Amino acid sequence: MNESDTSRHFLRQWIEKDVAEGRTGGKVVTRFPPEPNGYIHIGHAKAVCVDFGMAELFGGECHLRLDDTNPAKESDEYAENIKKDINWLGFQWSGEGDGEEPGFYNASNMFDKMYEIAEELVRRGQAYCCNLGQEEWKEYRGVPERPGRPSPSRDTDPERNLKIFREMRDGKYADGEWCLRAKIDMSSPNIHFRDPVIYRIRHVSHYHLGDKWCIYPMYDFAHPIEDALEGVTHSMCTLEFEVHRPLYDWVVDRLDEMGMLPVRGGVKIRTQQREFARLNLTYTVMSKRLLLQMVQNGVVDGWDDPRMPTVCGMRRRGFTPGAIREFCDRIGVSKMESESDPALLEWCVREELNRTALRRMAVLDPVKVVVDNFEGEREVELPNNPLDEAAGMRRTVFGREIWIDRADFMEVPEKKFFRMAPGQEVRLRGACIFKCTGCVKDASGRVAEIHGTWDPDSWGGNAADGRKVKGTIHWVDAKTGVKARFRLYEKLFTEKNPLKDGPENFLKYLNPGSKREVEGYVEPALASAGAGERFQFERTGYFVKDADGAFNRTVTLKDGYKPA
Ligand code: ATP
Ligand code: MG
Repeated sequence: MNESDTSRHFLRQWIEKDVAEGRTGGKVVTRFPPEPNGYIHIGHAKAVCVDFGMAELFGGECHLRLDDTNPAKESDEYAENIKKDINWLGFQWSGEGDGEEPGFYNASNMFDKMYEIAEELVRRGQAYCCNLGQEEWKEYRGVPERPGRPSPSRDTDPERNLKIFREMRDGKYADGEWCLRAKIDMSSPNIHFRDPVIYRIRHVSHYHLGDKWCIYPMYDFAHPIEDALEGVTHSMCTLEFEVHRPLYDWVVDRLDEMGMLPVRGGVKIRTQQREFARLNLTYTVMSKRLLLQMVQNGVVDGWDDPRMPTVCGMRRRGFTPGAIREFCDRIGVSKMESESDPALLEWCVREELNRTALRRMAVLDPVKVVVDNFEGEREVELPNNPLDEAAGMRRTVFGREIWIDRADFMEVPEKKFFRMAPGQEVRLRGACIFKCTGCVKDASGRVAEIHGTWDPDSWGGNAADGRKVKGTIHWVDAKTGVKARFRLYEKLFTEKNPLKDGPENFLKYLNPGSKREVEGYVEPALASAGAGERFQFERTGYFVKDADGAFNRTVTLKDGYKPA
């Protein structure tokens, strides 16, 4: 974490104060709690940066806790990939852990504990079983402006409640028949405080525990217990949980009464929750549910499709962990909901790749050029990265026939077109000055071959007589160049907010041109590049080699963004 202004945000100040006032027992502990029901996306990456970043900054630890309290839709495939993606972003969990792996927890490992705590609440008269149907329950709960009504079961004695709760656990009832509610305050203006449900019946197998349970704790009950018992000091989450905070504190108070809060360095550790604004990106959707829908519909080629806002998709697109972290840092942490422009993310990746990516020449839309007065072949030496001398030089071959991009030639040049055109001189990058003499067309009138001559006194690119040549274009030698496929990506949606007509309709805003595959040629040096290697194709864009050998375009070179 750097010391920029954005990193001195309110969460950091909040933690600083607790450290100064001795509330952490000498160690700041945070956690990142994803539900293993999908791959993590750029929004999660922001939470990762905040949760791990704050722990790092204060020399503490951040736990990775899989919040697997919801039996349906969770899987080990998701769990494994969440870990992989967090590591790739540059973070590592640490701390005790609930098993072999330091710092790693499954919330479901706490089900026994949670159940015991729930029984204890029942015994203490702080929770009761309720059999109102969904509709009735809503009606009894009422609206914020008016107090709700007590459930007819609200004053059932603890013994009977305990009996029903155990029967719920033992599978005597169907889903929804009974639930366990905390007994708090039916007249609170905060409806989350009106005797919230803390356990519900769900006859669904859990991906780790199988059919051990048919009752599952609700998030608002489970989360503070997990945080408290793991010894978390600072629990950070997104703003929608702000109204749940009184309930979070209520649960922690009950644990305190039960003497369950951990003690560290002589200090009782009382977890606290604070909330920050979600990361929202224009021209995309971020909810795992909608991303899954696109995967299942085949609208994209999987969770790691390079157009997806998932961390694995962005990796395949060529984004770097550093650029993603820089992006999260730049948008900052606040309590104001806002939308970020993907152009800022692109700006961050260009910044990094401009410094680090090796330069290569690639021709994506090739047309052949014949240098009529050239014989044999010559070696050209070019810098790997003009901004980084240490990156060294590379060699490539220049021959009588080369490929150039079709867009770099005009038979009848427009004003200010300084590239290749009949009668005009152009510099062939790193090689020589070339004068076009004309072109040959095919039956359809399309340019098939361009002809011209080189100036033998210009080897390296500059004329011996000092005359100026305005344009420089890239090229690939036809004899030694290697055929390559390129995938060109654009925004996945044409609409700034694809959800503007509701989540049922977002697919109608898909950009039909979001993926295009073309074939062209690259310098021979690129044939041996490994998957995941990133390059700047001169004058074209940043690309990354994919597992199938194609080059995925990360971003073009053109920057439409200036950061403030
Ligand atoms: P989604 O709605 O996309 O499925 P979620 O909030 O249900 O996301 P979880 O796996 O429950 O996903 O979230 C793990 C953590 O990531 C939570 O602390 C959550 O607040 C945070 N998080 C999720 N989405 C964002 C976002 N867009 N911006 C910042 N933090 C986020
Ligand atoms: Mg969720």
